[in-house]
Amino acid sequence: VTTFKGKKVALFGLGGSGLATAEALVAGGAEVTAWDDNPDSVAKAAAAGIPTADLRHVDWRVFAAFVLSPGVPLTHPKPHWSVDLAHQAGVEIIGDVELFVRERRAHAPDCPFIAITGTNGKSTTTALIAHILKTSGRDTQLGGNIGTAVLTLEPPQTGRFYVVECSSYQIDLAPTLNATAGILLNLTPDHLDRHGTIQHYADIKERLVAGSGTAVIGVDDSFSSLIADRVERAGAKVVRISRRQVLADGIYAKGSALMRAQGGSSSLFTDLAGIQTLRGGHNAQNAAAAVAACLAVGVGEKDIVEGLRTFPGLRHRMQPVARKGEIVFVNDSKATNADAAAPALSSYDRIYWIAGGLPKEGGIASLAPFFPKIVKAYLIGEAAPAFAATLGEAVPYEISGTLERAVTHAAEDAARDRQGPAAVMLSPACASFDQYKNFEVRGDAFVGHVAALEGVTMLI
Ligand code: ADP
Repeated sequence: VTTFKGKKVALFGLGGSGLATAEALVAGGAEVTAWDDNPDSVAKAAAAGIPTADLRHVDWRVFAAFVLSPGVPLTHPKPHWSVDLAHQAGVEIIGDVELFVRERRAHAPDCPFIAITGTNGKSTTTALIAHILKTSGRDTQLGGNIGTAVLTLEPPQTGRFYVVECSSYQIDLAPTLNATAGILLNLTPDHLDRHGTIQHYADIKERLVAGSGTAVIGVDDSFSSLIADRVERAGAKVVRISRRQVLADGIYAKGSALMRAQGGSSSLFTDLAGIQTLRGGHNAQNAAAAVAACLAVGVGEKDIVEGLRTFPGLRHRMQPVARKGEIVFVNDSKATNADAAAPALSSYDRIYWIAGGLPKEGGIASLAPFFPKIVKAYLIGEAAPAFAATLGEAVPYEISGTLERAVTHAAEDAARDRQGPAAVMLSPACASFDQYKNFEVRGDAFVGHVAALEGVTMLI
């Protein structure tokens, strides 16, 4: 990034994206002073050629900007000491997304930039949009909160498309985030530990859509719905999306049908039935948002439909990984608590459910509405006894102990099921750390055990 060429910039937070940001600033000719509370991170940055100094003992008045890494508290529960020092010296505080948008504005303001936020579904929607753009032959860069730091993407140039997932934190630190299309999927109380009140959290999310050329907003929750009205009154072009209501204008889902409404009349855009990776009402919302955003940046209807149809899904999130006859094997290892497991359980009808791991507060009692769809549960890890107690008489279960045994037994039982399509699904509603390094390793282990079964056709 050349926006701060020849200028002095302070940077705090040298984890993955912080280090990438520091490197990008240095490469672009900025005079960086970087620091972290963790001495190992400082040492690593210094070894990578980043100038470091304890920001508690420098003159802050020389800095043109202060770049803060995701996760360093800006306001809540209280500002990090570096934030206080920046405020005292009157230095602007920004994040890597702001550096990216300034770079884009300086070098290629016309390159389409889609920014995505919301409480749930951000990564799925981001990946889906990038897939649609790519399959339509567009030069596409995918990054942000989803994994790849924005400043490590290819630099902005005409004809290049950017799809960037934004956390509230990144929006908060991006005062001039003006996307070509901005998406607000939904807003539910979450992450309030970081942002204090839901109103503050909603205000941050609103900024992303308010500043966008086209504001794509899910109107199924009251906060987002109010934001849509307000942003529209302020003069923005709003495209509403819904999975629950018939809209006069916008994109909405009716069962598995995605409808496009204009001026009160609506027509079928496409049907999502049969697209394994977009099952469930929550994915209808994600798909509706992707359709609206792609239309906003000029993608043709045919290309959008083709992209939806061929979306491979995200790894470890309700991902169909294999088939055997009428059985589909689903990896939902990312579901590390009951709330996160609910969409997967609601999206299939005859479920052989592999659950358990390191228990989280609350257990699985909240999943009771889905129990009638569970043919049998296969319990693993430390949570097994507690889950067994909750399932009680309502759901047949076995304590499988290990994931391997659970997969083998579930597959055997499902193979004997003659009552139609069934899903063998890992949606653990637990953290993985009792048996695995993280949910990715657990998901990969599931895929490995499934692949070892006889007669399965892998889908990945
Ligand atoms: P995020 O990036 O916002 O955390 P993901 O796309 O990674 O969201 O999805 C994580 C989980 O959240 C999914 O496995 C699913 O259980 C749930 N989910 C996905 N999309 C939605 C949605 N639109 N509404 C509610 N829940 C969703």
